[in-house]
Amino acid sequence: MNLIILGAPGSGKGTSATVLRETYSLAHISTGDLFRYNIKENTPLGIEAKSYMDKGALVPDDVTIRMVEDRLNNPDCEKGYILDGFPRNIAQAEALDKMLAAKGSKIDAVVYVKCDDDIIMDRVTTRRVCEKCGASFNVKYMPTKVEGICDVCGGNVVQRSDDNPETVAKRLETYRINTQPLIDFYNERGIIVEGNNNVDSKTCISSIEAGLKNLGL
Ligand code: ADP
Ligand code: ZN
Repeated sequence: MNLIILGAPGSGKGTSATVLRETYSLAHISTGDLFRYNIKENTPLGIEAKSYMDKGALVPDDVTIRMVEDRLNNPDCEKGYILDGFPRNIAQAEALDKMLAAKGSKIDAVVYVKCDDDIIMDRVTTRRVCEKCGASFNVKYMPTKVEGICDVCGGNVVQRSDDNPETVAKRLETYRINTQPLIDFYNERGIIVEGNNNVDSKTCISSIEAGLKNLGL
């Protein structure tokens, strides 16, 4: 099963993606994580991406598309995957269609995680992530057992440099302009499955799983 997960930054898309990955044994392809890995390793791709990410802007399409195409050729994608953070605009969605068609493959469903902006702002600015394994925590709602240390792997837990109120506001705006139109794009194909994350991720995920079943997945 090949999935895309869509949702505003901080909507809970990442958490839902992690659960879906486990439930359906999918490869998890997060473009944000791929960029952050490249930044940490100081690769040319990372150096270019960082300048855009820190402004809350999108990394240029050609760079992003090449990175995803490369990742999709990894053998672990043969068992099915969940694309998290890609596509983020219509041009990327069209490029994805093309690369999948060339392999005789397609996207089976698009998971849409909904959440209100004020809730997002509160959750994202209190969010912390593990530098080593990417696990997500929250100083207000899901603190680590030991301050600053990951419960999962013992790595350092830090605030992402783009999780400050100004950049979050900018990312939400970028999302509205670029990513929201994707909902219509995929709605026309009848493959959207919704979950609402205003209350908690459990309810959100149950409705997503029910929606996938409805599509026969
Ligand atoms: P969030 O969804 O919480 O904003 P991500 O980790 O998905 O966080 O992405 C962080 C940043 O990485 C984005 O603000 C953007 O600059 C860049 N990025 C991630 N995915 C893409 C993409 N598909 N196209 C362009 N830029 C991207
Ligand atoms: Zn960790």
